[in-house]
Amino acid sequence: MTYTPPPPGSKIIIVGGGCFGLSTAYALALKNQYDIYVFDRQQIPAPDAASSDINKIVRMDYANDTLYMHLTIEALGMWHQWNEERSQQNLDPVFHRSGVLLLSGKDEFSSFEKACMKNIREAGYGHFIKEYQSPEEIVEDFPQFHHAVKQGFNTAYLNKAGGWCNSSEAVKHMYQKCIDHGVHFVLGDEGCLKNVYCDPKNPDTVVGIQTADDTIHYADRVVLTTGSWTAGLVNMHNQVVASGQQVVHFSSPQNATLNASWEKLPVWCGDLSNTGYYGFPMTPGGKMKIGKHSSGYLNPREVDGVSVPRTQVTHTTDTLPIGALREFRQFLGNFLPETSSLDVSFGRVCWYSDSIDGDFVISPHPDYKNLIVATGDSGHGLKFIPILGFKIRDIIEGIETEYSRAWAWRDMSTQDTKLDGLRADSLLQRLLLDETEHARMATPDEFKASRPRL
Ligand SMILES: Cc1cc2nc3c(=O)[nH]c(=O)nc-3n(C[C@H](O)[C@H](O)[C@H](O)COP(=O)(O)OP(=O)(O)OC[C@H]3O[C@@H](n4cnc5c(N)ncnc54)[C@H](O)[C@@H]3O)c2cc1C
Repeated sequence: MTYTPPPPGSKIIIVGGGCFGLSTAYALALKNQYDIYVFDRQQIPAPDAASSDINKIVRMDYANDTLYMHLTIEALGMWHQWNEERSQQNLDPVFHRSGVLLLSGKDEFSSFEKACMKNIREAGYGHFIKEYQSPEEIVEDFPQFHHAVKQGFNTAYLNKAGGWCNSSEAVKHMYQKCIDHGVHFVLGDEGCLKNVYCDPKNPDTVVGIQTADDTIHYADRVVLTTGSWTAGLVNMHNQVVASGQQVVHFSSPQNATLNASWEKLPVWCGDLSNTGYYGFPMTPGGKMKIGKHSSGYLNPREVDGVSVPRTQVTHTTDTLPIGALREFRQFLGNFLPETSSLDVSFGRVCWYSDSIDGDFVISPHPDYKNLIVATGDSGHGLKFIPILGFKIRDIIEGIETEYSRAWAWRDMSTQDTKLDGLRADSLLQRLLLDETEHARMATPDEFKASRPRL
């Protein structure tokens, strides 16, 4: 299907007001030549959107995926600019330059960390890296990890340019920018897409969307930025899959010294390409989040087996699978054993739109005229919220760039699945989210530290 960029004056509907959608709406609005609408099934930030969270990692450490390293470097400048804008508005910063500490195991960097350092240095950003020469040096800078180092996480480098962002605040920040630039919003039930709407005489030509209340909203172009929900809304030909990933929080311990030391943590990755675990400093609000970047869980729907997100909005008592909780406790027992005496205060499954190769999928949809999809975030998109929309705008406007080439529709078969670089070595083993003993949801009682054995 040939794609024609929207001429000036076009009405563009963007469905999905998360990171991808808002960033796109803002970049398009800056052109002052389109009429832009964002639809979302919830108020923004949507509580179960991947973008809505207390924090996300902002890292440039991408091993050989240097496209994203360069994109992060572009984004970093804008994160600092956002902090300045916010300080003028008496708002808290959204980006926190805590540094990102990448720990590897057993006396040697793993190939991911080696490739990160090599590429960052070759690109001329070696001054951001502090490579530790001995386990003792790591503990000297970060005594919080003395136990982890003793357990064999004893090689590390710190990327001093990275850190974390308060992602829900970042979404709100971008939402406000969109409002200030004249983007229209249709939110809640009226904003919920039922299906893309095609010209009855030309069934492959999208002329708008039909919302859950059966209203048809006409548009010249429709952009789907519906994250992990996308494959459930339009046939994505298995190029992306909704995969459920796990997150837990701990609340401030009743120990002022420990509390203070956790506030000073950097973002950390505990041999991430092998274990999947990463974590954040304690937030000013007293929450410490730890996550696992893995191949995740599937939730296939009955009608066609397409995996769709199952979240705490529709399943209010959901937590995270008991098997995942057991694994968190086991890993943390070695890595940050002080957590063993703390209750897990919150747990959830958060959904990636996982592409087959870890690259985003941002492209005209091959089956339809006038439909663009921008998804396949593969668990690493949020850090780009200040900049991503400009790259997506290029694609909507038919401008070829290195990004449009990397994110083009790829027609890969699922057996080629290799996930993103960080998970490249992990076993692609996706469990079903169901009622089995491994995948049933953990109960609040099982969150308690006093439970001797899970
Ligand atoms: C556990 C976890 C940890 C992560 N950690 C990081 C990290 O450390 N660093 C990083 O950079 N990235 C991270 N990510 C990835 C990042 O969150 C995503 O890349 C990013 O949020 C994707 O944005 P999105 O706009 O595509 O999707 P979403 O934020 O999910 O937005 C999709 C929007 O579409 C709306 N929608 C869905 N269906 C409909 C419909 N039918 N009609 C109307 N609207 C609809 C939803 O309400 C939602 O607002 C993480 C993700 C998860 C799940």
